[in-house]
Amino acid sequence: MNVLVINAGSSSLKYQLINVETMKLLAKGICDRVGSEESSHKHGIDENEVRINTHMANHDEAMQVVLETLTSGPMKAIDSLDEIDAVGHRIVQGGKYFDHSVIIDDDVIAKIDELSELAPLHNQAALSGIRACQKHMPNVPMVAVFDTSFYQTLPPKAYMYALPYELYEKYDIRKYGAHGTSHRYIAERAALFLDEQMDDLKMITCHLGNGCSVTAIDHGQAVDTSMGMTPLDGLMMGTRCGSIDPAIVTFLMEHEHLTPAEMDNLMNKKSGLLGISGISNDLRSVRDASEHGNPRAQLAYEMYSNSVKKYIGQYIAVMGGVDVIVLTAGVGENCKKMRRMIFQGLQPLGIKIDEQRNAMTKGEREISSDDSAVRVLIIPTDEEFMIARDTYELVHERVDSAGIDFNEDVFSIAGTN
Ligand code: ADP
Repeated sequence: MNVLVINAGSSSLKYQLINVETMKLLAKGICDRVGSEESSHKHGIDENEVRINTHMANHDEAMQVVLETLTSGPMKAIDSLDEIDAVGHRIVQGGKYFDHSVIIDDDVIAKIDELSELAPLHNQAALSGIRACQKHMPNVPMVAVFDTSFYQTLPPKAYMYALPYELYEKYDIRKYGAHGTSHRYIAERAALFLDEQMDDLKMITCHLGNGCSVTAIDHGQAVDTSMGMTPLDGLMMGTRCGSIDPAIVTFLMEHEHLTPAEMDNLMNKKSGLLGISGISNDLRSVRDASEHGNPRAQLAYEMYSNSVKKYIGQYIAVMGGVDVIVLTAGVGENCKKMRRMIFQGLQPLGIKIDEQRNAMTKGEREISSDDSAVRVLIIPTDEEFMIARDTYELVHERVDSAGIDFNEDVFSIAGTN
């Protein structure tokens, strides 16, 4: 079964075509800056990647470009659209409705639309992707995989905000979390790496990319996470401020005469590493500047590591200990200096990093020392794999009678690459 995984952002459309029986990645690419004059399309795996400047006015046109590239021309991966058996869509906000992935029908579409208020850019983009697929592949089953569903196990004491309770009842204001598909993936892979069951472990998973989040997973269930009602909360990020004293919001709106939209823009786009360093949202640039003596870059770097360290401490307290800490995404997977700073001083909590292991660069690996009470792992994330797996499982349930040989073990041992 071939699953097309679609991750539609506000101005991008990422895709992967995965054969789930062999776990072979057949094609992947990204349509960037959709809707602008500079829109472009990158297609191909690793060194075979090519960039094609193609004008795409909207997600529908981007989808058309993707399907044409997959089925025709020198880069084609399949002969016709008939070889796409199912589509899995990444959806950022599933709100209170979805605690697991679902087959997309009219009701699911209506709910994703309704939840747009909580993730305006993301959910509308996902809907554009869904509608484009419906138009170009009307008979292909589609599955929605929600970033938030992993967090539906959070207890009320973790997801409630200490605001008047009526506001929760009126607006569903509560913590929903984000990056759930990534946290779920790295937690499962980490358990396999250790030859343990997730149900036997206290885990802290850290997704450190442009967006950043930390999750506490107690015996297989997410019990707390750093992102909140929106993906602005929690850790300091590339351009997002993360948690700040809420009184700063009203103070700045008053003194800088900012509208809600301007305040939102300041916190989402102008803060974080970029806001503090004044240089970049990219940790590599901030690191380089700090190593050349730029004090604001140095400060940004220290604040970032401190922000992760504090969440690790919190979640050790929440779970009464931790067995394994897992790091992933651009920073977590690649930046040994940041990892060193995050774990510096945590030896009294039983966390010891082996510097030689920390310097290793590729694949799933352990960076804690042999005498560390807590295992620290790096697991490269693969959200597309999780989306393909959920899609396969749900569609397979529906077409069970068609006789597809379903083998759950495939997914417990394989990665997509
Ligand atoms: P996104 O959330 O956009 O998917 P990524 O997971 O790609 O983000 O992470 C992007 C971040 O990872 C950037 O801050 C980038 O600087 C950082 N990063 C990527 N590679 C390295 C590296 N080798 N060393 C340090 N930071 C890195």
